[in-house]
Amino acid sequence: MPTVDDLSALLAAADDHQEPALREVARKCGLLWQCRNAACLLDNARLVELCDRCGHDRQGRPLADHRPGLYPVPDKLWEALREHLHDWIATTGLPVPDAVTFRYLPLTGAEWEVADPVFHYGGRTETIPVDLSGTEIEEDLDDIADEAEPSHCESLRITLRS
Ligand SMILES: [Zn+2]
Repeated sequence: MPTVDDLSALLAAADDHQEPALREVARKCGLLWQCRNAACLLDNARLVELCDRCGHDRQGRPLADHRPGLYPVPDKLWEALREHLHDWIATTGLPVPDAVTFRYLPLTGAEWEVADPVFHYGGRTETIPVDLSGTEIEEDLDDIADEAEPSHCESLRITLRS
């Protein structure tokens, strides 16, 4: 199986007539997937979950809440987390991200990985070097886990812009 680097080398060596055909083949065999956002259409590497440019998913949906776990969570818990994240981000001076992702890692001791949350700005992600242990945000996440019973390593993504 060729790697993404192999593909980049191929595309770089192709002329303007060859490149569209190469991309088509790469999409067909699953090395690339093309963003379905009509305003974007970026080709993304196979293992990328969200479009590198606009953050839409493979089905073409904009960055959305991803609710992990087996069971539904009452909306009020979800909204409490959203509100507390907004409150906290306002105190940091950071630009409000489109969404925030947390990972559930109960086998490592703590439940949620509340240090270094991932902020999404469109397709760009940034790891924020903070520890949210002992905050309302951690309490909200724990409340959500109690209801949802996520699996180890599952991610929760919550949008902060509509
Ligand atoms: Zn895109």
